[in-house]
Amino acid sequence: MESWELVIIGGGAAGLAAGIYGARSGLKTLIIDEKLAGGTTADAPIVENYPGFSQIGGGELAEKMVLHCRKVGVTIREIETVTGLELKGERKIVKTTRAAYEANAVIIATGSHYRKIGVKGEEEFRGKGVSYCGVCDGPFFKGKRVLVVGGGNSAATTTLYLSGIAAEVIVVHRRDAFRAEEALVKDIASKKNVQVFWNTEVREIKGEKLVTKVELHDNKAEATKEIPVDAVFVQIGEAPNSQIAREAGLEVNEHGYIKTDIYQRTSIAGIYAAGDVTNHPVKQVGTAVGQGITAALEAYGYIRRPYYRK
Ligand code: NAP
Repeated sequence: MESWELVIIGGGAAGLAAGIYGARSGLKTLIIDEKLAGGTTADAPIVENYPGFSQIGGGELAEKMVLHCRKVGVTIREIETVTGLELKGERKIVKTTRAAYEANAVIIATGSHYRKIGVKGEEEFRGKGVSYCGVCDGPFFKGKRVLVVGGGNSAATTTLYLSGIAAEVIVVHRRDAFRAEEALVKDIASKKNVQVFWNTEVREIKGEKLVTKVELHDNKAEATKEIPVDAVFVQIGEAPNSQIAREAGLEVNEHGYIKTDIYQRTSIAGIYAAGDVTNHPVKQVGTAVGQGITAALEAYGYIRRPYYRK
């Protein structure tokens, strides 16, 4: 079994920030990610609110964080899934699809996943016109008519991104106002190729091999209609990737987010959590970075017990 001082599960903004601070504190630090490092930041079409970058592609920002991590000596293992955790003893055990690791402390930064609208056709046409990531799949729909579902910041930023690629973007929101930031809402209003259907829900996604149309229901007019579209981008928020942590006995809140205190400590000593998987009320790249930093410095204190922490 490989031995590490700090194992970080998840290589998104929180995990990468924790990695930088862990390695720079002198801890032998490993990051494990089931996909490629970068997390959901890499999926964001544009990031305009990460301090220091007035506008940067999410992919580019994530890549900068990954490079920074590697430069300071963090080992990053990608395409490796954590299958089990034994967290209660002094030495923490992390089992993956490839190996088993023991660590003095573990930071869980497994993020969240896209929520689904749960309508007929959503699963069937996933990857065939149904997408959860504008920046990943938007370019396939150049000059086409696409639909975005949702009314928060994800829906708004994806709409703006797609408006520069698709011929037409239709936004379907179940309320009569967005909850996205004012600046994004203003930008959307200025786009000539964006149309918003308020008080409306998608009832079904239809097609043959690929998506061709959607059935919409106007909740105010109580009317149903079909419109032709080439793609449906579902942007209705996220849910925590906390299953592995729950199974290992960590306390979560009623929505499944890992409970932490302001030091990012969880209910088990030596285990920290950071980023979108936690019960922190704000889910931003900047807050994930801050939580990752706190978790790493707390883990450092827990492992090395420096004189000023005794
Ligand atoms: P969100 O703020 O929770 O918004 C989700 C939206 O989807 C809401 O408008 C919600 O409608 C709608 N919705 C939820 N379930 C639905 C369903 N079953 N059918 C139809 N619509 C449904 O989620 P988010 O937009 O992903 O944002 C998550 C967090 O990340 C937020 O804190 C956000 O600020 C942040 N974020 C920031 C940026 C940025 O660039 N600043 C970009 C992306 C995300 P209701 O309004 O009716 O609840």
